[in-house]
Amino acid sequence: MTTTATAATAIVVQKYGGSSVADVDRIRQVARRIAQTRQGGVQVVAVVSAMGKTTDQLVKLAHEVTDTPDRRELDMLLSAGERISMALLAMAVRAEGFAATSLTGSQCGILTNDSAGNARIIEVRPFRVQDALAHGHVVIVAGFQGTSWRREVTTLGRGGSDTTAVALAAALHADCEIYSDVDGIYSADPRVVPAAQRLPMLSHDETLSLARAGAKVLAADAVALARMHGIALYARKTDGGGGETVVRLHAPQDRPWVSGVAGRPHAVLLRARDSGTADAMLAILTQHQVCPLAVVTDGHGARLLVARDVADAVDPAFDRAVDAAAALPGAELPLRGALASIVGPAVGREPALTAAFTDTAVAAGSAPQAVLAHGLTLSALVEPAGLAKVLQALHARFVEGDPHA
Ligand code: ADP
Ligand code: ASP
Ligand code: MG
Repeated sequence: MTTTATAATAIVVQKYGGSSVADVDRIRQVARRIAQTRQGGVQVVAVVSAMGKTTDQLVKLAHEVTDTPDRRELDMLLSAGERISMALLAMAVRAEGFAATSLTGSQCGILTNDSAGNARIIEVRPFRVQDALAHGHVVIVAGFQGTSWRREVTTLGRGGSDTTAVALAAALHADCEIYSDVDGIYSADPRVVPAAQRLPMLSHDETLSLARAGAKVLAADAVALARMHGIALYARKTDGGGGETVVRLHAPQDRPWVSGVAGRPHAVLLRARDSGTADAMLAILTQHQVCPLAVVTDGHGARLLVARDVADAVDPAFDRAVDAAAALPGAELPLRGALASIVGPAVGREPALTAAFTDTAVAAGSAPQAVLAHGLTLSALVEPAGLAKVLQALHARFVEGDPHA
């Protein structure tokens, strides 16, 4: 039996990541949390990721069939993961006594460009969501997917359920809560740096920089979208323990000079000897949908920093793009490594920072092959085997210690 509430007006979009819906018990736990919110008189749109490591397993399966899976078919396959969790969660919410409807990205009116595997949301027409809410239903949405103007199913890039949540929050003028296995955004990945501290409040800019530097707790595209729409994000833990991080346009003035550290295990600095080669490299990266993190050109040559998505253990398209760019006749040998970064307002404001940053990496046993500052981020290309140690040292010096010292 289901209850259909009527008077609720406020809407909240809650996003539950893969670990939060990894098994039946956890799906029931999420359903109870949704039921509690609903009981409080708030309408709920819950965006879900695929259960546990489903997406990784589906990617692996595709690569067992062929080395070069067709991108359209890969999107068809990957979008299935979120459809499973949305249907199960809708059943679990109904079992809690609330009317619930699950909808795919396409049914929610999430319209994207046709970049299979890494599509951008162009528009959200959430009529079916609004209709279901008006009928008192909890709406469960399959994250990470939309539909292109050609009516093809597209996926939004790894971690893309966060982006679905933000896009729906913007379209519905709702609050946006991101639930995961960690109670907010930390000054480093707590799995890598045990001394990492939760950051109670962050600006969109810093959060975006941390995400691009490799902090996979929030997808970079989601943060960029939230910044564009001025939406605050509340990052919390699914089981309700601990605190939260609030991401908003303006963080308080007394925030630290270095907010955090983050790493990306696979990065490449491409080097072009002349501007023609630089243009050809950029064309190859564009063709493979690889966006450089930083570009330096001087009219003769160029340096392009690229990094594989943190969530992807394998990404043949990224590797093919890098290999093709590096094989151009005007290319110098690319520098390969891991990217260790610090993020915060000190970057670009503290003249002594770059030298202290390099010294810290050297003292941790990894002399950087290259160091570059971009926006709020200062990055070093280091030996992948030494990445964790460098991140721990950078955290100790610049987050736990005084960045001015
Ligand atoms: P979900 O499946 O809920 O989207 P993710 O695995 O994408 O969860 O992101 C949560 C994980 O991100 C955490 O388990 C943590 O190890 C990792 N992580 C990386 N950097 C950070 C950070 N700066 N703060 C918090 N968690 C981080
Ligand atoms: N299931 C997708 C992934 O693993 C999307 C997400 O989790 O947000 O990348
Ligand atoms: Mg995620």
